[in-house]
Amino acid sequence: MSGDAPVASPRHRYLVTGGAGFIGSHLSEALLERGHEVVALDNLSTGSAANVESLQSDGSYRLVLGSVLDTQLLDELVEECDTVLHLAAAVGVKLVVEQPLRSLVTNIRGTEHVIEAAHRYRRAVFIASSSEVYGKNTDVPLHEASDCVVGTPSKSRWGYSLSKAIDEHLAMAYSREKGLTTVIARFFNTVGPRQSPSYGMVIPRMIEQALAGDPLTVFGDGTQTRCFCHVTDVVRAVIGLLEEPRAQRDVFNIGSTEEVSINELARRVIDVTGSASQVVHIPYEQVYSSGFEDMLRRVPDTAKIKSLIGWSPTHKLDSILRSMLEHTAAG
Ligand code: NAD
Repeated sequence: MSGDAPVASPRHRYLVTGGAGFIGSHLSEALLERGHEVVALDNLSTGSAANVESLQSDGSYRLVLGSVLDTQLLDELVEECDTVLHLAAAVGVKLVVEQPLRSLVTNIRGTEHVIEAAHRYRRAVFIASSSEVYGKNTDVPLHEASDCVVGTPSKSRWGYSLSKAIDEHLAMAYSREKGLTTVIARFFNTVGPRQSPSYGMVIPRMIEQALAGDPLTVFGDGTQTRCFCHVTDVVRAVIGLLEEPRAQRDVFNIGSTEEVSINELARRVIDVTGSASQVVHIPYEQVYSSGFEDMLRRVPDTAKIKSLIGWSPTHKLDSILRSMLEHTAAG
């Protein structure tokens, strides 16, 4: 794919890195539903084969077990596909704080390999970036030109933010200097069925705690707020951007603007699950390391994507919680 033609049509073969992950599996499913082919590359470090079990019987789908750090494999897969959707990453603050080196290597070197291969074969590449790039900027709502305000490199949590910012820089530099066709999206908190509770994601963890009758753990004082967007809304936004030539060589926020404090979130999880669980507050120092810095608010300005493709989220928090509960209860 080159020039300004839409990336998503007609029938395309997509390489989805991180395709067995939470967002990657939903995105793959949506692409197959639209009649495309999907090759998923995943090392199953945080994703799982169970996430894509229902896709395996589709002749247009193939899961390749391997890493974006394997340049030879990546080269072969990029060559055989039309467009690359790069979602593979070391994800989540917990993982990043506990294994900073793995996170940096996966997120920076892995992305560089993906972009280089895409450039070599003149493929368009979509980059999954993150609201983490805004760091400590509290000047909400955050719009795409807002400053990235990150803390000291002595605190490993900022490595994730910086790695995603470097990914964006790499994609933009390849685009400007070498003509790479790229679309970058900054996902804000994305939630929904299949999101694992194992890597510090707040809603799956709270639902698991509520169903087990365990206390719901809120880190810090719980007044920090977040906006949670359903994964099907996020996938619709990504595909909308892929189908819109004017989205190329640009960056877009994707997220909900329904702001909720983590204390309120815990109350809603208890309501939706009918649990008798209590809420306990745990100091950040006990969960991460001393001096851990969190963002008080993280609200996206989504005017840019709305005006370009008319996108806005359709799911409210309560319906998101219900859909995640149903998925968890279904096993
Ligand atoms: P996820 O952990 O489910 O997905 C990441 C996938 O990448 C996993 O399947 C994992 O096994 C795979 N992976 C990791 N290292 C790999 C490697 N070296 N080679 C191949 N595969 C590898 O998490 P997700 O929430 O689906 O995240 C997808 C993307 O969206 C990531 O780039 C993440 O940074 C970004 N993002 C997610 C959110 C969110 O709220 N979920 C927010 C901002 C950005």
